[in-house]
Amino acid sequence: MSENRIDPGRRGLLRGRLRRGPVPVRPPYASDARVLDACVRCGACADACPEGIVAAGDGGYPEVDFRNGECTFCGDCAEACPVPVFDLTQGAPWFQAATIADTCFARMGIVCQSCRDACPTGAINFTIGRGGPSRPDVDASACTGCGACVSPCPAGAVTVVSAGGQEGTSNVR
Ligand code: SF4
Ligand code: SF4
Ligand code: SF4
Repeated sequence: MSENRIDPGRRGLLRGRLRRGPVPVRPPYASDARVLDACVRCGACADACPEGIVAAGDGGYPEVDFRNGECTFCGDCAEACPVPVFDLTQGAPWFQAATIADTCFARMGIVCQSCRDACPTGAINFTIGRGGPSRPDVDASACTGCGACVSPCPAGAVTVVSAGGQEGTSNVR
């Protein structure tokens, strides 16, 4: 019997076994639960993404990899999907924001502002430390989770995680 003919609950269990580590970043407007419930792994969303940031991940389900670029929220992935994985009426495209690890060069005293320069919403601000290095911090209320700051970081210090941390979404594997 193919997996697509198994009832949804059992399919979820089977698919759950495929996961190792944190929940991956799903395309915008597509929750992890809807991906696992309804996605038929056709690859249409990945093919449609003009930024090339959507690809088949664990189990063939779509994941976003910000190392290849940023999400512009064009909605092409949602338009291309043949099944009800995406919900363009849900309001925010996703609930995630960038976070910066202490491996950041600036936090170690090396001049770098690449993440701030890449951010389209001005969500990354530098604080001048007293006698210490300036350090970048993300204003979560201004961050859209677009991932534009991930690939320019020479230290690999930026990741995108779910707001509130409920799902532990991450672009790092
Ligand atoms: S909204 Fe556009 S840029 Fe973002 S993942 Fe979908 S197709 Fe790619
Ligand atoms: S994820 Fe996007 S909006 Fe958020 S800090 Fe990075 S570049 Fe700015
Ligand atoms: S781009 Fe990376 S290393 Fe440079 S300041 Fe931002 S987080 Fe730090």
